[in-house]
Amino acid sequence: MAEYEWMNEIRALLGKEYGRVYAWDKINAPMIRQWCEVMGVDDARYLAGEVVTAPPAMLQVWCMEGFTLNNYPPGSTTENPYEALKMMEAHGLASVVAVNSELSFGRDLFEGERIYYTTRLDAISPEKTTALGTGFFVTLVMRFFSQKSEGDEEVGQLLFRVFKFRAAQAPTSAQKPAMPAPAKRPPPGISDDTRFFWQGVNDGKLLIQRCKSCATLRHPPGPVCSHCHSFEWDTVTSSGRGTVYSFVVMHYPEVPPFDHPNSIALIELEEGTRLISQLVGVTPGQVRIGDAVQVEFNSFNNGELVLPQFRPVAPTPGAIA
Ligand code: ZN
Repeated sequence: MAEYEWMNEIRALLGKEYGRVYAWDKINAPMIRQWCEVMGVDDARYLAGEVVTAPPAMLQVWCMEGFTLNNYPPGSTTENPYEALKMMEAHGLASVVAVNSELSFGRDLFEGERIYYTTRLDAISPEKTTALGTGFFVTLVMRFFSQKSEGDEEVGQLLFRVFKFRAAQAPTSAQKPAMPAPAKRPPPGISDDTRFFWQGVNDGKLLIQRCKSCATLRHPPGPVCSHCHSFEWDTVTSSGRGTVYSFVVMHYPEVPPFDHPNSIALIELEEGTRLISQLVGVTPGQVRIGDAVQVEFNSFNNGELVLPQFRPVAPTPGAIA
């Protein structure tokens, strides 16, 4: 079958070498130590050897942009090595899936070396149809170099192949696009120990477990009193009033179905127990420890799920110490 005419322009890019992307930092011991810690690498060779040696699998790490998107060191290229993929997107091949990646190493890297990479558009397959849809396999090869006064030395490479395609189920322009199903709230995991709590929530009550023997309140629920070790318990119904004992504001990643920034608090109820819950009706920058809050029971997932959430209230004089 004849290929789309617009592919000519994209195929013309084949073999193009995109400019250098530099590493922010030279190969250094703190980054190696932190990487090893995070990845669970426990190999004395990297930090306790005579010279500090970088784990080979860190090769790609050195040249990463960091916390801010597209923030590369001065001198790095401003070209987009994914140009061909962007052009395919413009022609309706909106989906992408990584197919395979091969990292290969020329030699070890040592403390003090400065690394950069270049990217080559290596291959574009003929049009292929897979279970996912119809499109093209695109291969990029990133070559990593160590800067040397006597001439830069290639130290490794990363081959990266993706399938860029039009999804098999994608609606045609004649069809009305189907609305994606809204993401649901994940329901709580409910056990024999916690069932009473969630049943209470369904009934619009915030229940706290109470030891029948010594009357100590406890939350999260559990089978035994940590104070007197009694297995006998009943519940009391909380007033639902409390204060923000601590909180976080979740900015990223933005996971559906939550609104972001997402304020999540550890609430201290006036009965004394604490629970984690989402704050509603708040401006994330204005939440303060000690703010007075009141529970409310809100329904999610088309009524399948009820969750206790807390909303700030103007403090009533004398109500909360
Ligand atoms: Zn007890």
